[in-house]
Amino acid sequence: MKKIKTVARKPRGRPPLIGKLVVFGVGLIGGSFALALKKRRAVAHVVGVGRSRANLLAARRLGIIDEIAADAGTAVKDADLVLLAVPLGQTRAVLAQIAPHLAAHTVVSDAGSTKRDVIAAARRQLGATFARFVPAHPIAGTEKSGAEAAFAELFENRNLIVTPEPETSARALKLVTAAWKLAGMRILSMDAAKHDRMFALVSHLPHLLSFTAVGNIADYPDAARLFQHIGGGFRDLTRIAGSSPEMWRDICIANRDPILAALDGYLSDLEAVRGMVEASDGPGLAVKFSTARNARAKWIKPQ
Ligand code: NAD
Repeated sequence: MKKIKTVARKPRGRPPLIGKLVVFGVGLIGGSFALALKKRRAVAHVVGVGRSRANLLAARRLGIIDEIAADAGTAVKDADLVLLAVPLGQTRAVLAQIAPHLAAHTVVSDAGSTKRDVIAAARRQLGATFARFVPAHPIAGTEKSGAEAAFAELFENRNLIVTPEPETSARALKLVTAAWKLAGMRILSMDAAKHDRMFALVSHLPHLLSFTAVGNIADYPDAARLFQHIGGGFRDLTRIAGSSPEMWRDICIANRDPILAALDGYLSDLEAVRGMVEASDGPGLAVKFSTARNARAKWIKPQ
């Protein structure tokens, strides 16, 4: 993993970094990106493209976008930067819609939570324009969705991971990293496969555990009574089960093999804990829990 130096500076008396930004999917991520750039006066005009008219109207009312696009092709005309911030299952279709309409200078990027599938789709759909496609993943978010959830500070002091391919143009990479840096992010670069394995472990697996923990209790016949008695621990464990089901369905499909490997590792660990509980193995459980508590103290700092 290496740090990328960018030339981003707060523009003063200079033209904004981006003249025309087009955001596909004006939700938490796409909306926050537009707001962050507007706050830094780094963009002149933001066009939003979406699936839900109500969400786009909210985005315009909230000042996130300046214009609602009539259609995808018209939207990207003369764009400097096109950001895809749609659920992963929509990526291929959006790329296919915009590919014939991209100008020679337009840079395309994404914010998807997985990278190998997005890169494969971009390579297939964009042809020669693939060199101006920058795969990226902002490591920031909340469990909320839609334009109303967007806020300009979401990305401050967080990491952006870019996973450029050998074809990726230096100019495109520089523009995208400069924009995210203005939004407050630190830029890291890594291989897409490494990214997908890492995030299967530290993000995708925990979300599956959280959804399953809530779903498991909900399936009991006395679920209503059980939920009345939940404490802070259950609440902490399950905050992320409030996340978008569509987004997480798509992540599971896009990152199937790394997620299966992460689940297998977790299930065998859980099986070992089950064995210790069954055998009333106090020393074994104490070691297991102490190891986890020490690792948490060492690696997971309070925010
Ligand atoms: P969101 O649900 O808040 O926003 C997605 C938006 O995309 C919605 O407004 C939806 O109407 C729109 N949309 C769906 N299909 C579309 C299409 N075909 N064309 C145009 N718009 C379409 O979701 P989000 O949290 O902003 O996530 C967006 C992307 O960012 C996803 O790929 C997700 O994997 C990634 N991401 C999310 C987080 C997070 O924590 N939420 C963090 C990093 C990356």
